[in-house]
Order: sequence, then structure tokens, then C-alpha cells
Amino acid sequence: MEIAVAKGDGIGPEIMEAVLHIFKAAGAPLNYQFVEMGKWVFDKGFGNGMTPEAKSTIEQLGILFKGPMETPKGKGVKSINVTARKTWNTYANKRTFQTLHGVNTVFSKAGIPIDLTVVRENIEDTYGGIEHQLTEDVAISRRIITRPGSEQVIRYAFEMARQKKARRVTCVHKANIMKITDGMFLNTFHKIAQQYPELTVDDIIVDDLCMKMVTRPESFDVLVLTNLQGDIVSDLCAGLIGGLGFAPSANIGDNICIFEAVHGTAPDIAGKNIANPTALLLSGIAMLQHLGLNATAAKIENALLYTLEQGFHTGDFGDKATAALNTTAFAEKIIAHFGKTPKTGAKTAVADQPIKIEVPQLQENLLLHAKEPVTKTLAGVDFFIDSTAQPGEIAALAQKYSTADLPLINISNRGTQVWPEGSKFTVLVDNYTLRFEATEGQAVTQQTIIDLYTKLANEFQITSVETLLEINGQKVYSLAQGQ
Ligand code: NAD
Repeated sequence: MEIAVAKGDGIGPEIMEAVLHIFKAAGAPLNYQFVEMGKWVFDKGFGNGMTPEAKSTIEQLGILFKGPMETPKGKGVKSINVTARKTWNTYANKRTFQTLHGVNTVFSKAGIPIDLTVVRENIEDTYGGIEHQLTEDVAISRRIITRPGSEQVIRYAFEMARQKKARRVTCVHKANIMKITDGMFLNTFHKIAQQYPELTVDDIIVDDLCMKMVTRPESFDVLVLTNLQGDIVSDLCAGLIGGLGFAPSANIGDNICIFEAVHGTAPDIAGKNIANPTALLLSGIAMLQHLGLNATAAKIENALLYTLEQGFHTGDFGDKATAALNTTAFAEKIIAHFGKTPKTGAKTAVADQPIKIEVPQLQENLLLHAKEPVTKTLAGVDFFIDSTAQPGEIAALAQKYSTADLPLINISNRGTQVWPEGSKFTVLVDNYTLRFEATEGQAVTQQTIIDLYTKLANEFQITSVETLLEINGQKVYSLAQGQ
């Protein structure tokens, strides 16, 4: 079985070498095609951090095992890690966090077991990286949540939960504030949940989850979240089980999957052969399981768990009274423990049943679109303008263009209504939103909006325009605070 391997930057090559050495000793039936990705590839002038050969090898083989990679700072280039996940639509990021005996934490000392699986949406949200500065003082970021994107990751989470007979599947969100975006994610979750009646499902607001995660982490099992909240919550989970050195990650797509550790390149310890290879090894074990190499995965995992249980450790964790092993010696210790079984958490070996990875040759891009037809009505428009005038002055100018068909209904600043009603205590910045909205049930045309744009442009510097939609008669835009 052939897979693509990118060693990465910083500690990447050291920990990758250790892991591949363990794979070889375990007899993993894998061949590697080493591909060029990472900081030094950016430095060679490849703006996306990978060579064309690397891209085509990965698209042919369908599996990438990668070390951490550094994105050059301040050069305007996007993160290679995020680019890889997005380019190949690895829509679900699965991270598992389990109590590891030998890795002391407040929870392990208190005898509280942790067994969490975080499924984080991996493509959308603020990771679209679509940001604009609108005025001298105001910058915005677009947070994209889509129904098909949500469906893909949520369905994956449920399928995985069904397979592992999960105790509970929890959707984590902030739909009380982000009613349209997180509302779409949450509604999609509950809709798909109906197809998994055997599973216990619920949802929780992300801040409440963070508090409960610290007080009662054992009560959760599978968590499914949007991208940024998932990023933060998974680092919280890593902290619960002993830190980033123990957090594996699988980026799952329909055609291409990427396996990597959660941690970064650890530049402070790179080149010293002291890094902890456990997170990359656990990611590698997840990859072996994904490839159907369950017996090999179990052999390595049992040896790793036994090694940790026996108190062997690298410098970043473990009993300070016992000497730390370097990366190479730690890997050798795991190999020496092949065939041993840990007292707790032992994995049962099921025979290897290698799967055949077949990546389709695509002629065009797949476009995901809602299957059910909807009625869409253009109900109005929000104009964002650059101004340091007072709300009343802006209203006086804008009202000249307010019509019976498309009246100016309010003005807001940072999402808070400041006209026609407002408070003098609301602090303003140099970007206002003028909302023109048709009367209930009436539609406007694009041309009406274009004409209004032309007129308003005589009075204001327009920084952005957002149309207001009704879908199936429902307003799908937010109200200003106080509206
Ligand atoms: P980091 O994870 O590299 O390091 C944070 C701290 O954890 C450091 O003190 C480091 O020494 C320690 N650490 C991390 N991994 C370790 C290991 N395996 N063994 C022992 N100690 C370990 O995070 P950072 O310093 O914020 O980021 C450094 C670089 O890594 C940045 O360029 C960042 O963009 C990149 N990064 C890449 C990925 C990825 O490739 N998926 C993820 C995160 C960060």
C-alpha cells in the first residue's frame, strides 16, 4: 500500500523518522512516496507551500501522512496546513483524546477517565480567511457556514459515533448569538440526528461546554463543532489529557485524507532529538486503522500504552525524577515493547484487512447544492458606509432616497441600532449600516438596489453591500441589536 509522506519543518523530520521506524519494525505493509511541502518549499517560491509534483502524488495516492509545517509569517501566504485541508476537501477533522496511563494530569490523578472525540468542521467558518478592512478603523471577517458543508461533517460524526457505539453525540455551537450561521449548523445536526435514533444526542452552547469540560469531562463522548470553536475546544481537550504532545488528528475527506499531529513545528526544540513523537504516532495509528491495518495498529498502540504506563517519557512530560528519553530512544523503547499489553486500555487486535484506496479521476469540480427547491425573495439591502457623522445627520441624507417600495428602516453601528431609536451611550465607529427593507411580503429587484447604490454613492463612501433575502418566507438576515 502506497501513501504520500511529508516530513514537515522544525521537529517534523525527527518525529516522522521515529514513527516510520516504529512502523517498519511493526511490519506495517506501507510504501512511502516522500513529497515536498512546507516552509522550505515556500522559500523556493511555491506560493502554496507544495511543489506541483507533491500535489499530483497526493491526488493520486489519496493518503498524506504529514509532519507539522511552518507558514512564513508576514509574507501574505496562507497556511500550508489549512490550504491542504481545504484544497482536498478534508471536511472532517477528527481528534481523539483519551486518558493515557503514565501521563499525569489533574484528572488522571483524581481517577476521572477521559475519552473524547472531537469532530471539527475543517473547511469553512472564519478559516475561509476572507477578510477586508472597510474603513480606517473597521476590519471584517466573513464567517462562512454552508448547509452541504455542515451536512458532510455532521454525517461523518454520526457514522463514526454509530460505529464506536458512542454514549452521546453533542453539537457544540453559539446559535444563541449567531442565529443564521450556527443556527444552520445546529438545525442540520438535529435533522441528521433523526436518522440515528439509537444514539443519544444533544446540543450545548460552546461557553457552557468549556465550563463543563473542565468540571465533568467524563460526561461527554463525541463532540461536533464548527471550525474555529472546534479548534479552541480541541486544544482545551488536549490540555485535559496532558497537552498537545498527545493529540492526534485525522483530516477526513471522501477522496483524500490527511493524518498529522495537532501540535506545530516546536522551533524551540527542533534539531535536538528531544521532541515527543507520541501525537504523530497516534495519528499514524489512526491512519493504519483507516487503512484497515487494525492488527498492526493495535500492536503499536499496545506497545505505546505499555511504554507510557511503565513511566518512560520524553522531556516534555512524565516524572521529573526519572531520566527523560530522547526521541530515538523513546521510539526504540516502544519497539522493544511490541507484544506487551498495558494494564489499562489494551486494544484487541483484529486481523488486518487492508482497504484499497481508489481516488477517482475527476473531470470537473463537485458542486454541492441543497436538493430541496426553495423560494427566494429579495427583501432589501444593507449598505455599509464610511462616516464619522452622527446618526441623525446620516439619516437626513439617506432618507432622501427612502421610497415607499424600499424605505430606510434603520441605521446601525457595530450591529447596534442607532436610528430611528438608539442611545447616546452607544459608542460609534466610522462604519455604519443603512438598512433599506421592503414592506412585509413585497419583493424588490436587483435594478432597484443598483439605482439606490448609485444615488447613495453621491452622499457616502460605500464600503460594502449585503442583500437581504427571504427564503421560503423566512427572513434570513440578522436584526440590529435594539431593532
Ligand atoms: P507548537 O505546537 O509548535 O509549540 C508549542 C509548545 O509546545 C512549544 O513549547 C513546543 O516546544 C511544545 N511542543 C509542541 N510539540 C511538541 C512535541 N511533539 N514534543 C515536545 N514539545 C512539543 O506551537 P507554536 O509554537 O505556536 O507554532 C510553531 C509553528 O508551528 C508555527 O509556524 C505554526 O504555524 C506551526 N503550526 C503548524 C501546525 C501543523 O502543521 N498542523 C499546527 C500548529 C502550528
